[in-house]
Amino acid sequence: MNIDALVRPNIRSLKPYASARSEFSGIAEVFLDANENPFETGLNRYPDPFQKELKIKISALKSVDPGCIFLGNGSDEVIDLLIRIFCEPKEDSIMILPPTYGMYKVSADIANIGVVQIPLTRSSQLDTKAIQEAVHPQTKILFICHPNNPTGNNMDLEAIESILAFFPGIVVIDEAYIDFSSIPSCTTLLSNYPNLVVMQTLSKAWGLAGIRLGMAFASKQIIHYFNKVKPPYNINILTQQKALEALNNKVQKEKWVAQLLEERAFLDRNLQKLEVVRKVRKTDTNFILVEVDHPRKIYDYLILQKVIVRDRSKVLNCEGCLRITVGTPEENRRLISVLSEYR
Ligand SMILES: *Cc1c(COP(=O)(O)O)cnc(C)c1O
Repeated sequence: MNIDALVRPNIRSLKPYASARSEFSGIAEVFLDANENPFETGLNRYPDPFQKELKIKISALKSVDPGCIFLGNGSDEVIDLLIRIFCEPKEDSIMILPPTYGMYKVSADIANIGVVQIPLTRSSQLDTKAIQEAVHPQTKILFICHPNNPTGNNMDLEAIESILAFFPGIVVIDEAYIDFSSIPSCTTLLSNYPNLVVMQTLSKAWGLAGIRLGMAFASKQIIHYFNKVKPPYNINILTQQKALEALNNKVQKEKWVAQLLEERAFLDRNLQKLEVVRKVRKTDTNFILVEVDHPRKIYDYLILQKVIVRDRSKVLNCEGCLRITVGTPEENRRLISVLSEYR
């Protein structure tokens, strides 16, 4: 597949901003090239624009070549840049598969890009046939959320591969919840599909939503365009330092994940027993979708009890559903206790 041909012509011919740090990045003693304040504060210098040290660490953890990694200011920036690289305003579209993560459509709406919506099936799986029938040369990017937010399930891997084989544009697999999932990452498919982008984040399992670090794994052709259009210093020094610290302590992340999976099982068992609960959906994430009789009433009742969940009952295929994030053991027991007192 020819990635260059999918890129907007103005991005193909773009002459990117040349920052001081990207023009000279060798070893020197006196840096008088970037108009920084020379007095040392630990933060007076601009950050590494290509986050080399951090990418080497991520490369080792994820078994992906450092040249196939792009880092963004959250997954939000990755989504926004993808749309601006590939989609011509008022001409091109993205394809999304509702119910799904809200940012794909918001980013497209901001950029004045069309949004083709192909709902998931009743069992929240990929409707491969409908996706194939809706494919159009102007549909540049397909976003697959896997495991899916808000339904919580994994997509069928054979369906993902069949879509990768026929989709003529970029296929993005958003793996924000991969650390909680029972199936392996789609990064293993990268070498077969130059049009594949796998997104992950430090915002969920790694406990770093506050630093804003999103990861994209893709072919070098795609990474080249990310680097061309990104703001020069999009990942600040504090974020790079905190991310490195956390990634050097993956045992902590693994402990959290193991505990959250146990807690998820606790919530699953105990929610099922409650009178107000009609159904607890199976999940591969750190949240649970729960079907109740009067979602809005229960949502409001929980707020009065100072417990906040997400009302997803107006979302396609999520009728009656509240989305509950797995909390600490204390928080989960409080939720169950409060819900058991609902009358
Ligand atoms: C939480 C979440 C993200 C994370 O976004 P960040 O900008 O990296 O915090 C991405 N995709 C999905 C589907 C999510 O639910």
